[in-house]
Order: sequence, then C-alpha cells, then structure tokens
Amino acid sequence: MHRCPLYAILSGFEYGKTPGVGTFYHFFKRLWSHTSANLSPKLRLNRKKVKGGKKGEKAPTKAYSKIANLMAQLQKRSATKPQPFDRLLVLFQQQFLTVSATLGLLGDTNALSIAGDGMPLQTATQVRSRRLCNCRELGIKPCRCYRIYSQPDCDMGWDSYRNRYFFGYHLYTFVAADSPYDLPLYPRLQRASRHDATSWVVSAREFVERFREYTWDKAILDAAHDALSIYQYLLSRKVKPFIDLNLRSTGSKGFARMTSHFPLLGFRFVKRGWR
Ligand SMILES: [Zn+2]
Repeated sequence: MHRCPLYAILSGFEYGKTPGVGTFYHFFKRLWSHTSANLSPKLRLNRKKVKGGKKGEKAPTKAYSKIANLMAQLQKRSATKPQPFDRLLVLFQQQFLTVSATLGLLGDTNALSIAGDGMPLQTATQVRSRRLCNCRELGIKPCRCYRIYSQPDCDMGWDSYRNRYFFGYHLYTFVAADSPYDLPLYPRLQRASRHDATSWVVSAREFVERFREYTWDKAILDAAHDALSIYQYLLSRKVKPFIDLNLRSTGSKGFARMTSHFPLLGFRFVKRGWR
C-alpha cells in the first residue's frame, strides 16, 4: 500500500495516508478469533502423504465409504459452531456477496446453480518440520515419529492438473454457475490432503446453515464427487445433482451404484426428483 497506489485505493485509503505496520497487526488479530494462529497443534506425527494419480485424475480415495459417516457425524454436531474465520466470512457476505446479489451478478438467488471444486494453494515448496527423534542417525527410514511443524494446518496434497505434489491448503470454493461471472459464494480452506468430496460435505453444510437467504437449486460437481451419499443428501434437500460419472468407479460409487441394478429406474428416479 505504501508503494503501490492501487492496493491503497482498493483497501479504502488515500494513497500516501496509509496506516503504519503496527495498525495492521492489531487489525489482523480482530479478523481471526482464536488464541492461536493455527488450528492444529504444531507437534504431530509425521503422516504419510496422499498418493497421487495419473495426469488429470483426481487423488484416489478410500474416502467414499467415509463420506456417509462424516455426514452422519456432522448432523449430530451443531452447524452454527463458531469458527475462527467467522468475522472474515461476515465481511465477505456483507461487503461482497450481498452487493453482488443485489446487482444480479449471482443469477437467481432463489434458485442458485452452485458448482463446487477445490484448487491447490501452495504455501511452501516443502514441508517445514523439525525432527525430535534420532531415527535418522540410527538409520531408521522412513520414520513416523512426532515432529514440530511450522505450518500445522497445511499438509501435502496431490495437484491433478499439474501432476505433482504440493504443500499447503486446498481452497474449496462454491461458485455461482449459471450467472454472468461465476463469482465465488463460499470459499473455504481445507488441508491439502483433503479429498474434494470430503471438502464438499463440510462446505455444503456450512453454506446451507450460514447463508439461509440463498436457495440452492442445482449442484454441479466433477467426478470426484460421484458418491452415493452426496446424491442422497442433495435429493433429500430437493437439490438437482449434476455430477460427472467417475470412470474408475467399480460399482461402489454414487451414480453407478444407484443405477447399477436398474439403470432405467435409477435414471427415472433422479429425473422425477428434479421436477
Ligand atoms: Zn523417528
């Protein structure tokens, strides 16, 4: 802001009259309502990284069976549980979302078409951690002992687009599809190793609870979300699912499973649900 007039103007200051660095430290504290800068403890086990896939393929997952469990668990918990980033979300909602909705930039807020997908957000080239054990000296490799991590909320994930691993977050975002600019509705940081389908479950629940004035009509998702429990969740809430079929599906995944016994029946069921 001190050097670049655009940043100062965007932040609502007159160029040349921007506050000092200390003011920003005080300000940032107010945006994050948690005593610690990280949600996870710095001391944790050295986990195995997620296994990558082929170019363009999503990270393989055993998570599909876990999705139903996760949904059941989340149902038991209170959805209005305060989160450290609540104030940021309120600002996002009041200053951006409501303004966009009023200008008609989100499409029809009484029948939103919401597309969801994750994107890698790299924070460092490598995992930053300090060893506490002497396994390496003793020749024990690989070692899965406790370590101290400098960015404990981040971990290694698989970037299927660039075909490589990365360290950081996975920014899972809901966007208003079927609108002029595909603007974001609900951006949410998850650890990089999280599978898209898992992130979707968390985001969907938070979005529905926090943004009650928006009505969800269609969900547009890629093959990573082809899980039976996601279809069931959407259909039970009268949201029309448009989900890519998972070609690696062995009949255990969502749509394939739903329609494997009676393909036509399944199709009709889904179709009738849409109307
Ligand atoms: Zn060790």
